[in-house]
Amino acid sequence: MTKYIFVTGGVVSGLGKGITASSLALLLKSRGYKVFMQKFDPYINVDPGTMSPFQHGEVFVTADGSETDLDLGHYERFIDEELNYSSNVTTGKIYSSVIEKERRGDFLGGTVQIVPHITNEIKNKIIEASTTSGASIVITEIGGTIGDIESLAFIEALRQMRNELGKENTLFVHTTLVPYIYGSLELKSKPTQHSVMELRGLGVQPDIIVTRNPFELGDELKKKISLYCSVDVENIIEAIDVENIYQIPINFFNQKMDEVVLKQFNLDLKKINLKEWKKLVDTVDNLKKKVEIALVGKYVELHDAYISVAEALRHAGYKYNTDVSINWVDSEKLEENTDFKKIFKNSKGILVPGGFGSRGIEGKIRAIKYARENDVPYLGICLGMQLAVIEFARNVCGITDASSTEFDELCINPIIDLMAEQKSIINMGGTLRLGNYSCKIKKDSLAYNTYKMEEIVERHRHRYELNNKYRNILEEKGMVFSGINEKSNLVEIIELPNHKHFIGCQFHPEFKSRPTRCHPLFDSFVKQSING
Ligand code: GLN
Repeated sequence: MTKYIFVTGGVVSGLGKGITASSLALLLKSRGYKVFMQKFDPYINVDPGTMSPFQHGEVFVTADGSETDLDLGHYERFIDEELNYSSNVTTGKIYSSVIEKERRGDFLGGTVQIVPHITNEIKNKIIEASTTSGASIVITEIGGTIGDIESLAFIEALRQMRNELGKENTLFVHTTLVPYIYGSLELKSKPTQHSVMELRGLGVQPDIIVTRNPFELGDELKKKISLYCSVDVENIIEAIDVENIYQIPINFFNQKMDEVVLKQFNLDLKKINLKEWKKLVDTVDNLKKKVEIALVGKYVELHDAYISVAEALRHAGYKYNTDVSINWVDSEKLEENTDFKKIFKNSKGILVPGGFGSRGIEGKIRAIKYARENDVPYLGICLGMQLAVIEFARNVCGITDASSTEFDELCINPIIDLMAEQKSIINMGGTLRLGNYSCKIKKDSLAYNTYKMEEIVERHRHRYELNNKYRNILEEKGMVFSGINEKSNLVEIIELPNHKHFIGCQFHPEFKSRPTRCHPLFDSFVKQSING
């Protein structure tokens, strides 16, 4: 029998529900249980793929090509399990599926309603996550804050599940804020009480409350929360603000959160192995060196838009006992007459990540030119690779009007062009080249030295590709195509051998980086940036 954990949030958004869910998952996995995670997002978009990163932060891509919420990135980085299509469910996905069934005649003769049709579909998505993953524990995080109109159907579905499966098989974790009032120098529990009341109004009594507070609650406040919210004192887990997020699972472990869960589920308290994780916490707490790396993008005001890239840089830093600090550079600002030397003065490496549309493109190209001409280590990801090719075509091959049909549909020299299979596609949602594709690596290349493998598999999210018609001239001038998807004859990795470290990839390596196992491309880029 699969056990189900539901994680809700109250009082305010941004409490770290995703990290709470991931930390609990890590503890249960470290006790030998197979855990699977999923996120419910109450918006109407079928997936976040069509949303602006300013709205939603990064779109995280799973191996099976699903475009998902950035919380899935936290999940994968914490539990080191590949998630999939079942891991991100939106209101849009649920309604599309119910409406499709209605049109097919599945409910012939009936009136299709939120209860039971929508709630049944939601429950099916939870069960599906359990059956497709074979996990013994499924953790479902519900996006948004209790009280939101949008999430009502989700909470109702969870309430029904508790009713059907009982307390032994379902468990509610509610995360809340306990604010500190500076005037009276007090932590306040009232918002937590109200949030739990709101949840109870929907028929759900939480089993565990996770409080987010700047410092310890103390016995009195804990007892008060316990009394008002009908939750045992030992089921109140404190998520005290920390600088090192990897400390959170350890803090939960010290408060026996995993024991509380396993006890309610009547599951064995198997021996825990947190050795690797504790070592990570220790490494991150004691980084000896520092390196600055510039990240040039158009969404830099919202760091969440590049969260996996930033994390992957930091992971590589851990390997070299180095704190990677990011110089967030707004690409649009580089379009004005700028002093590049000043902007990149302390940056030992330059990274241009993925992106869409024409805003800020010329600024990114100028940053790449600066990296190439000054032998600054460069890593270009997806759009960052495409622009590196355009820059090279313009400034080294002399094709001064080189561009991509993404920015200039009628350009005369489309160095980057729409993939053949993309030309007939009309819909925008879910139609990019997504997820895992393999790539053959050329021996004697930087890519090979980095991966030490001839065949790799990486995650993709793009519509455009390097135009094969220009391969010869680019190669003649010194660009090397060190990674090729042989099946479709697509260039996956480019590099410049006469440069210290200049590499670009069409895929997104950041999605596969883990804090305890950094990605090879980030590894070599950060290492070279440190070594100068
Ligand atoms: N916009 C480019 C494309 O669609 C690059 C995509 C990306 O960087 N993820 O091909």
